[in-house]
Amino acid sequence: MATWKNEIESRKTFAIISHPDAGKTTLTEKLLYFGGAIREAGSVKGKKNQRHATSDWMEIEKQRGISVTSSVMEFNYQGHRINILDTPGHEDFSEDTYRTLTAADSATMLIDAAKGVEAQTKKLFKVCSMRGIPIFTFINKLDRQGRDPFELMEEMEDILGIRSYPVNWPIGMGQDFHGIYDRHAKKVEWFNPDSPSQTEVVYVNGTDDPKLKERIDPQLLAAFQEEIELLDVAGDAYDEERIKSGELTPVFFGSAVSNFGVQNFLEYFMEWAPAPVGRESDQGFVSPLSDNFSGFIFKIQANMNPKHRDRIAFMRITSGKYSPGMQVNHVRIGKNMKLHQPTQFLAKDRSIVQEAYAGDIIGLYDPGTFRIGDTLAESGTFSFEEMPHFSPEHFAAISVKDAMKHKSFEKGLQQLTEEGAIQLFKTYQRVPEQQIVGVVGVLQFEVLEHRLNNEYNAHIKMENLPLSVARWVDGPAEAMNTFTRKQKNLALDRNDRLVALFENEFQLNMAKDKYPDISFHENSYFV
Ligand code: GDP
Repeated sequence: MATWKNEIESRKTFAIISHPDAGKTTLTEKLLYFGGAIREAGSVKGKKNQRHATSDWMEIEKQRGISVTSSVMEFNYQGHRINILDTPGHEDFSEDTYRTLTAADSATMLIDAAKGVEAQTKKLFKVCSMRGIPIFTFINKLDRQGRDPFELMEEMEDILGIRSYPVNWPIGMGQDFHGIYDRHAKKVEWFNPDSPSQTEVVYVNGTDDPKLKERIDPQLLAAFQEEIELLDVAGDAYDEERIKSGELTPVFFGSAVSNFGVQNFLEYFMEWAPAPVGRESDQGFVSPLSDNFSGFIFKIQANMNPKHRDRIAFMRITSGKYSPGMQVNHVRIGKNMKLHQPTQFLAKDRSIVQEAYAGDIIGLYDPGTFRIGDTLAESGTFSFEEMPHFSPEHFAAISVKDAMKHKSFEKGLQQLTEEGAIQLFKTYQRVPEQQIVGVVGVLQFEVLEHRLNNEYNAHIKMENLPLSVARWVDGPAEAMNTFTRKQKNLALDRNDRLVALFENEFQLNMAKDKYPDISFHENSYFV
């Protein structure tokens, strides 16, 4: 196999999905630390508070101290190249976060042992399961008293519909935390609270090995043995196929802040997580090992440097190898173009890419030529699947204050829609027509107002609407006819697809009962 194909095979591109405060920053730091990408754990955390990072941020982001630095972090570990896609977790949660997941080949779901499956994890999980990618679970904060591990597994099944295969299992928890037992490799990693990252590993002959008796008090040991027996007898067995399709999640326990259990997780992840996976296009499946370089834009980051109003378009390389000076076909606009100084990101540094392979993410300087979902290919005119839209959670009617500024207002709205920061709808069959903006995270409204003001000199009027759910609808003609006549709050999306807006889930469920022939889709992926 050509060496560039080995490069592709050695790659793992994944995202960490979690609810704020579960420990994503901490876990990312430890992973980068193992890869030698940062010298001291703590460097990633710093970025949240950093005033002057590598480039200047948007003012609003500076004020709020939101990190927009690294959209992807890379490191090498034991001959593998690992790309971690960053999914913003706090107030800056947005549709971007969902879309970023379309660039990942697998995901790590991070769960706080005391809190279990939380709201944001559930939303992000849904996007991953829609694509059927493998999900690895890390249950964090075992150094504190958390919930019963069986209860957590049950919750994962009830709320997310995924079965678990615990690869390791905790011996005690909180004050009583002794370590983890690796069921797969039959070894124990002892936890030493005084120096937690110094892991002592002991191979054992099952759970009744005398080496365990020496260190665990009889009551705790008996409980632990019973748990393992229960897992062995009644739990799901290791099943490569079910893990690959995202039906079964390998589960790991540990404590990210103590750097305990992280390496155990990382080693299994290296072995089990998929190498870059190809993508469907309108002309068939594109294999990552194809000679033809191709990729798609999944995220556009504006204002990397406000002085130049430049933007960076993030491309997931789907196939082949990138080399400097390459010409590609911009399929949507039918133009051949040279890729300008693609950038890669390492923690907070940026550097010019010399070579990159399927599975990698590169940042392209974007003078305004790219849209979310665009396909670039060295040769051919195929397009990758359309990037889905997801239901916004906040809606506002929007208009420009000064009618003279109408043109630049419209231009700004279009631009921001293309970047994927907002979704734009127009009311259906209502006179006069009204424009409605939908966002996933409420902060996007502020970003919208700020940018229209600053970049397009357009002052806007925004009126929040009491709506929180959007569903893309379709169904047989007759049913649709009745539905569109009777249902209120209908709108058209940017591609003139019909969307029904609801105040809440309750209203949505009422509509589902009332119109059983209509399908209500959570995202625009179905078309
Ligand atoms: P994020 O919001 O998911 O990025 O979470 P952070 O990594 O910022 O962590 C949130 C808080 O949880 C911080 O105070 C961390 O120090 C703490 N934390 C992270 N991992 C652990 C852990 O294993 N045990 C305990 N006790 N605290 C942790």
